Amino acid sequence: MATDRAAPHPGEPPLIGDHLAMDLLNTQVRSNGEDVDLWRTGEDVAAWMARLGLDGADSGVGTPETLLAQAKALRALARGLVASRKAGEPVQLDALNQHLHAYRSTPHLARDVDGHFVLQRRAANDDAEARLGPVAESVASLLVEGDFALVKQCEHPDCILWFYDRTKSHKRRWCSMAQCGNRHKAAQFRKRNSDAP
Ligand SMILES: [Zn+2]
Repeated sequence: MATDRAAPHPGEPPLIGDHLAMDLLNTQVRSNGEDVDLWRTGEDVAAWMARLGLDGADSGVGTPETLLAQAKALRALARGLVASRKAGEPVQLDALNQHLHAYRSTPHLARDVDGHFVLQRRAANDDAEARLGPVAESVASLLVEGDFALVKQCEHPDCILWFYDRTKSHKRRWCSMAQCGNRHKAAQFRKRNSDAP
């Protein structure tokens, strides 16, 4: 369940997006009315990539500062693209294509934990843009294949988290039931009680 993947430690980005592109946006959160960037260093970006099992996450080439700057640029770009597409506005592809073109990769045949063959992609170089390639590709895949009716932002007014609604009923409203769902229920309860005669 998505709620089980809410941030295990304070300060770690929640992995509740059910899509890599959504989890990318969710590295910025809102807390007590303030936007908080959970990527403060290149190491934060590398740790986030490692949690997501992204290939090359612990390769050491390139400075952490470059990785941080590139990751933030990609995230800002993705935020704009998702918002434009969601609003039905024209989507500019050039900047995302620059990130995609920097991702030179090679096919790699491996076995998964059950011994089945899996065809993977491996970055052919180690620079920051190549390391972030799978993330850029996930943003592109969202534009290609995503149903933007299911690309949603948490309905809680003090939350900016995004998710891809993969529930059967497509009625997911909250980043996590444990957090915003319960906050909403508690607020409704207080409201009902104060309205009571
Ligand atoms: Zn929320």
